[in-house]
Amino acid sequence: ATFARIRFRRDLICGMASQMLGELARLEDRGRGRRRRMSPGRVQYLRFKAQYQDALLLYRMGDFYECFDEDAHTLSRVLDVALTSRDVGGGEKSALAGIPYHALDNYIGKLIGAGLKVAIAEQTSDTPGADGIVDRAVVRMVTPGTVLDSALLEQSRPNYLMACIVDGETAGLAWLDGSVGEFAAMEVPAGRVVDEMERIAPSEVLADTRSFEMIEAREDVWRSTASSGDRPVVRRLDGAEMDHDDAADLLKRHFDTPTLEPFDLVGSHVATRAAAAAIGYLVETQMGNAPYIATLRRHRSDRFMHVTVGALRDLDILDPSAPGGPTLLEVLDRTQTPMGARLLRSWLMSPLMDLSELGVRQRTVERLHDDVGLASTLRLALEDVPDLERLVAKLSQLRVSPRDLRRLSSGLSQCPELVLLTTASATDEPMSQLFEGISSHDEVRKLIDSAIVDEPSARVTEADVIRDGFDAELDRQRANARDGRNGIAEIETLARDSTGIRSLKVGYNKVFGYYLEVSRPNLSNVPEHWERRQTLVNGERYVTPELKRLEAKVNDASLRIEELQQSIFERVVGQVAEHAAQISRTAAAIARLDVCVSLAEAGREGGWVMPMLDTGDRLLFEEARHPIVESVLGPGRFVPNSIDISNRDSQVLIITGPNMSGKSTYIRQAAVLVLMSQIGSMVPATTARLGLVDRIFTRVGASDDLAGGRSTFMVEMVETASMLNQATNRSLAVLDEIGRGTSTYDGLAIARAVVEFIHDSQTVGCKTLFATHYHEMTEVGETLERARNLRVEVAEDGSRISFLYRIVPGGADRSYGVQVARLAGMPSSVITRALEILGELESGAARSKAVVDSGVADNIQLGMFPVGQSATSSEPSAALRTAAETEIEELTPLEAMNMLADLRRMAQAELAGQEEK
Ligand code: ADP
Repeated sequence: ATFARIRFRRDLICGMASQMLGELARLEDRGRGRRRRMSPGRVQYLRFKAQYQDALLLYRMGDFYECFDEDAHTLSRVLDVALTSRDVGGGEKSALAGIPYHALDNYIGKLIGAGLKVAIAEQTSDTPGADGIVDRAVVRMVTPGTVLDSALLEQSRPNYLMACIVDGETAGLAWLDGSVGEFAAMEVPAGRVVDEMERIAPSEVLADTRSFEMIEAREDVWRSTASSGDRPVVRRLDGAEMDHDDAADLLKRHFDTPTLEPFDLVGSHVATRAAAAAIGYLVETQMGNAPYIATLRRHRSDRFMHVTVGALRDLDILDPSAPGGPTLLEVLDRTQTPMGARLLRSWLMSPLMDLSELGVRQRTVERLHDDVGLASTLRLALEDVPDLERLVAKLSQLRVSPRDLRRLSSGLSQCPELVLLTTASATDEPMSQLFEGISSHDEVRKLIDSAIVDEPSARVTEADVIRDGFDAELDRQRANARDGRNGIAEIETLARDSTGIRSLKVGYNKVFGYYLEVSRPNLSNVPEHWERRQTLVNGERYVTPELKRLEAKVNDASLRIEELQQSIFERVVGQVAEHAAQISRTAAAIARLDVCVSLAEAGREGGWVMPMLDTGDRLLFEEARHPIVESVLGPGRFVPNSIDISNRDSQVLIITGPNMSGKSTYIRQAAVLVLMSQIGSMVPATTARLGLVDRIFTRVGASDDLAGGRSTFMVEMVETASMLNQATNRSLAVLDEIGRGTSTYDGLAIARAVVEFIHDSQTVGCKTLFATHYHEMTEVGETLERARNLRVEVAEDGSRISFLYRIVPGGADRSYGVQVARLAGMPSSVITRALEILGELESGAARSKAVVDSGVADNIQLGMFPVGQSATSSEPSAALRTAAETEIEELTPLEAMNMLADLRRMAQAELAGQEEK
């Protein structure tokens, strides 16, 4: 009923559009006072265009796909092809741009990459109708979220189409990947639409009016986080969304079930509507031939930890926070199959909150970790498994090639062994639970192996695709063809013997078929009854009645063979497709197996432990390492640190220390380890125990969003506010250098206020790791009851420092800013001058107006201000210190001169300072 209604509505709109077009044309004619007419081709084109207004219409004309009008401009711009114009009747011209038909596949990726929806209109007949125009029909639509062609898709990433519908306070979200048959839906509070959209990262979004407005309103926020390539195309549903009953009907029809109970959608009206919108759009773009989507997964957001996209990025989980950097995904990913790679990504995106589900994963990973032999046998078995999910999707669309079928069968040939391996360990209840669903697929493999030759051509018509012995009629026709060809070969021998022409040979060409070729000197020996077909420079070609008879036999047989192969192939595909559901269950189980083997392997290589999970409120990691930083530094170079944080007595940890000393690494490490624990992975620590965390928030200072036109400070405040609004006492917040984006005192004030708020709030109370180089924050750590100060240990040797990367109790008392600058390779004259200013500040001249006015104060780490600290006037002067530290042997003569000049300036400044006093 819904489709009928949609179609009706569409027909109605199209009808109106054509009428309006006609009317316009007439008005135009009348306006000019002349009788002008559009060409019939133009009229046909405009009729199509009216039907696919929001798409770029590729209109097949002979060997080209052409675009007209606005579409031509778009095509020319996106593909950089020439823009011309064409007469469309009545003296009118329209813009025109086109691409050769055979290059379509090369271009289509670029077009959808630019966010376009592409409609492809083919010629459906060769002969023009009465109006001189050939029939055409839109046979295919391609949009960013509905591409199914694996050549256009990234192997290890899903490609989602998403639908968002907001009703009252609730948002329904549904997302699907037709290329692998994945389909999920959930309901969340309306305010979370954009967050979830960012997390799921679809390439195309269908939004109802309210969600569209929300997305628009947050456009600047998520523009700052997603690189342009990752931004989805958002389409308005504009009232085309279904009401609940229609939506439920559509889903029931699609899944062929009487109720939506199996999908846990009963009563979830908005999720149902979103799901129907998504699948309806997919069906529409595939011209009714939707790919195989056998089930819908209800995503219950309370089952998963909530990680914002910002946190995923700041923690380098899936994509690096700095271009080219390493990610946790890379550290963990030893998967062998594309399904496994995609699943690992999806686990990292949605860590679990469910102890029993996590328990199953953990025990499985542990089992594979302990049994090295089993794990490596499984790895070997997984090695050759192809992308079963995408093959199944193709299969159900009947778009598979003979080669795909072979790939499928050889991929499935690993299954019996996998079944054996996983059931042999079935005494392990968790393992069997996770890998249930792998079948051996004997029947399908037997079918494919008996039907399809070992190395088939890519297309059915090209060569032998169906194996001998599979179909009696095909075998008979092949025998006919063979007989015919043998007969022809015999004719050659016979003719040579009877004519005595040694050089005589049988040949074949497309125009004349088989012939007997005789060179010029031998022409006199050609029998009378041979019929001449073609004259060449040095000979003649003939046919004989027998040759013609055999040729007809071969041709008939070949034609039949082609037809038979095609129909047998289709039959086989149909039969294989009946197993689609079972194959996709196998694919899903193989993906889980692959991920678990991968996690076990990563754990074994890193010497990790399996964390103990509970519902308590403490996070304890002893001797823990940051897996990503460690992977960069190499084995043994990372200094382990323990983390102990709990709501009751150490809710807020304030970590102080100089820049580059390892604060960020430490606080991120905690969050990364929590996230790993909640996907079922092992973690780099000697002991790990944690109460489940419901959200991870991160806020990292100083990531200026210049493109978005917002200051760091604004970004920071927006994100911090959103965090404070959503955190619970089960959440973990990682705050790095908060408040840095503004002036020193403001920054410090904000940092302090944020910490106090988190600490004192009855509702928030999340566990918080707060890293800052403002050593004044240690005072906060001392005064707040559940806050603790930690600092990074620094070894000092004169004015030089080195980092030990050890986190110890207590707060830092200074920032070592200038020393860090020296470590960073700052020119020595700058360091010298900085030390000089530091000396002035520390000797009580801190409030010297000259220094403050020069703006230096804001640019130096606040830690240099002796707030609450006594002046250290007994220290040697900056000039003296610099002179003492100078390694004269290493100076060039020029540097020595400069040095001397610097020293003199310093000494003069110091003297001047003393005189002032
Ligand atoms: P901060 O936040 O204090 O400025 P980072 O956490 O960014 O410092 O650390 C700076 C660098 O120090 C890191 O890139 C890493 O190479 C190194 N580092 C950090 N922590 C450790 C550690 N525990 N062991 C060894 N090297 C570390």
